[in-house]
Amino acid sequence: MDIPLLDLKAQYRTIRDEIQAAVAQVFEAQSFILGPHVERCERDVAAYVGAKHAIGVSSGTDALLAALMALDVGPGDEVITSPYTFFATGGSIWRLGAKPVFVDIDPDTFNLRVEDVEKAITPRTKALLPVHLFGRMAEMDPLLEIARRRGLPVVEDAAQAIGAAYRGRAAGSVGAIGCFSFFPSKNLGGAGDGGMVTTSDDGLAERLRMLRAHGSKVKYDHEIVGGNFRLDALQAAVISVKLKHLDGWSAARQRNAARYERLFVEAGLSPAPVVLPMSPSEPGDRHVFNQFVIRVPRRDELRSFIDELGVRTEVYYPIALHRQTCFASLGLGPGSFPQSERASAETLALPIYPELADDQAAHVVGAIGRFFARCMERHDS
Ligand SMILES: *Cc1c(COP(=O)(O)O)cnc(C)c1O
Repeated sequence: MDIPLLDLKAQYRTIRDEIQAAVAQVFEAQSFILGPHVERCERDVAAYVGAKHAIGVSSGTDALLAALMALDVGPGDEVITSPYTFFATGGSIWRLGAKPVFVDIDPDTFNLRVEDVEKAITPRTKALLPVHLFGRMAEMDPLLEIARRRGLPVVEDAAQAIGAAYRGRAAGSVGAIGCFSFFPSKNLGGAGDGGMVTTSDDGLAERLRMLRAHGSKVKYDHEIVGGNFRLDALQAAVISVKLKHLDGWSAARQRNAARYERLFVEAGLSPAPVVLPMSPSEPGDRHVFNQFVIRVPRRDELRSFIDELGVRTEVYYPIALHRQTCFASLGLGPGSFPQSERASAETLALPIYPELADDQAAHVVGAIGRFFARCMERHDS
């Protein structure tokens, strides 16, 4: 049995006709940059997220960059974020000449430990940038309370969390700006790179629209310096089709997570040696499992053992941001953020895609069980 981490072909088979029809429309119109498909996609995403505005951009990375530019983040500023995330979160801060200030994660949720945020605030802090990692939203109420008290805007890195909710509020609708990615492996993936910025602030929306088109409202009249952060019409057409299926796919991911939990417990593998991701338990919370990430001892050995048995996995993320070579000048040595470093050494993402079948999930758990059974035998002899 060969089980990929993500099976986009299986998903495509279920929506092929709709996608082909939408793509054909774009080709017939020969209008590829912004235009009606992008506007429609923006309306669809704004309505889905519950934000007043959605602005299509070229990637999740550019969504973050444009969001921070809209808030005037620049040299000398600091932005507080998590060191345990995809590189773009920290990279977008750095590219503006600002300094990422990291706060360690809560080991149970993999998200920013909100209790530690206040200590990290300085007079240079310009924004708070929580990440809703793996499809679970960060602890937003206490974070928003700090933000309000200290007069700081919150930018949500919701790249992995479209459809997630915290106390009934959708990811991307809670902070001043929400940033989404349509990278193909995200829960709502396009046919290439794409992203979206959401906000309910009219002024920020206007700035974001200008920033994505080289800072101009009127063609060739540049009020500010922006970039080319535009969303392609082809991506927008694909995203609008797929958005209609998103809730069904998220529900399937949640069912898969519950099935894994059952299987791991039945196999005697959980709560140890396999530590399962914790689901949020408050009413109105919704985890959309962009990734199903377990913690295990001897992670790398386990990973190659189950790979031999056809189970493809990934490590998100093997190097925390503060340990990246390009950020060495921050001077954050080993031990600076122990929970993030521990997570980098222990976590493993298992296949959780919506089309994952019962026998495939059983094979994944069986393969992990064989690894630990073998460890025990060696230990005994
Ligand atoms: C994917 C991702 C991004 C960047 O999105 P791209 O579309 O790949 O540029 C940013 N932050 C997080 C947490 C992500 O997972």
